Amino acid sequence: MALDARVEGLATSATLAMNELAARLTSEGRELFRLGFGQSPFPAPDEVVAALRDNAHRCDYLPVRGLPALREAIAAHHTRLHGATVKADNVVVGPGSKQLMYLVQLVLDAVTIVPTPAWVSYVPQARLASRPCVTVPTAIDDGWRLTPAALEATCREAAGDQGQLATANGGGAGRGAPGASGRLAARLPLLILNYPGNPTGTTYQESDLAALAEVAERHDLLVLSDEIYGDLDHRGQHVSMARFYPDGTLVTSGLSKWCGAGGWRLGCLLVPDALSRVGDAVAAAASETYSAASTPVQHAALQAYRGSSEITAGLEAQRRILATLGSWCAERLGAASVRTCKPQGGFYLFPDFGVLADRLAERGIDTSDELARRLLTETGVATLPGSDFGRPPRELALRLAYVDFDGAAALRACAEREIDEGFLRQHCGRVLAAIESMCEWVGR
Ligand code: PMP
Ligand code: GLU
Repeated sequence: MALDARVEGLATSATLAMNELAARLTSEGRELFRLGFGQSPFPAPDEVVAALRDNAHRCDYLPVRGLPALREAIAAHHTRLHGATVKADNVVVGPGSKQLMYLVQLVLDAVTIVPTPAWVSYVPQARLASRPCVTVPTAIDDGWRLTPAALEATCREAAGDQGQLATANGGGAGRGAPGASGRLAARLPLLILNYPGNPTGTTYQESDLAALAEVAERHDLLVLSDEIYGDLDHRGQHVSMARFYPDGTLVTSGLSKWCGAGGWRLGCLLVPDALSRVGDAVAAAASETYSAASTPVQHAALQAYRGSSEITAGLEAQRRILATLGSWCAERLGAASVRTCKPQGGFYLFPDFGVLADRLAERGIDTSDELARRLLTETGVATLPGSDFGRPPRELALRLAYVDFDGAAALRACAEREIDEGFLRQHCGRVLAAIESMCEWVGR
């Protein structure tokens, strides 16, 4: 039996594989610090869970693009909170933003541009959709942000393509997208931007977005802006790329992060009027593949997106906990000579152990994969190697998801007390212990 070349050698996504490995090791009695898989530690709000329960009897299919009232509520949420101008007609609801991002790559005859480090699935999705993919390395000194100059250089190279572009294969992503072959210049460039970032934890200021938008507009790029962590901007000040580049930006988001409901599989794609053909094509592809997102989940999502003072207060508390915890972790790692950007949103850190390379080499560790493996076996701290995020194998970076704590208990407690180190010790103790153990281990 021959498999198609696009899936030959394609393995389970690193994040989901880690989730399954961690569950297996825990069930075998191994004590594990679960900083590998990135899922919200916080529960979905009670009223949203109640809405799911109350709508469980709804068994009819919904329209392909989603429940009209939900599309309305999603549009209002993004307009009110993220500075974009979105109407219900611009919204496509689907079973997770991951699926919608894949359909965007599928329906566009584009070359995908991915700044790295990048979330694990963009490059494999390009491969599944048979799209050439160009990776653009970013630097820790820039907070792992794509600079306008790097975007400009990538666009110029793509326009005058002589086949010299760093491709997902040649450029170190290593997860096997097809090389950029043929004239990329003939293809539409699709830039995938993600902020607050997974795995970086950093975000873009308005001035950064305006500068990137200026380059994007001049080179006629489409931008797929993955803003799934937008509502978890630690200061609650997320601004959408769509505000700066309204006619060229597609935005994805959903319930998984801010609403703590990753397993419900509910995402959305925001398509500007100027790109309505893309929205139509995504909806057509959706109708031939998954039909529509789950009906009860869409009704529950309606409750989440309509919001309430409890939901807003819960979200503010989540941000305060994540900001304090993330900063504590970054500072502690910094004190152990591990370079880490102070996080600004979401729940990830992407520390670089490069300064300790010589000492780690003496212990036989010279790749991020080996670093993650040894850390797991010798300390029980589960992380993911930077190479899973498109970085060169010998760059000693890891992704940490600082989510191994009981978010429900932490939310209850923070209503009554300040979130200080004592709070973190009491309610996020496993994360602190994992970071301390990691620092002790690298310092050995
Ligand atoms: N983008 C990023 C950066 C993510 O971390 C994730 C993981 N959940 C997704 C997209 C996919 O989210 P969803 O659950 O909406 O498919
Ligand atoms: N986004 C999460 C992570 O990066 C996991 C979910 C997924 O990859 O689909 O760990």
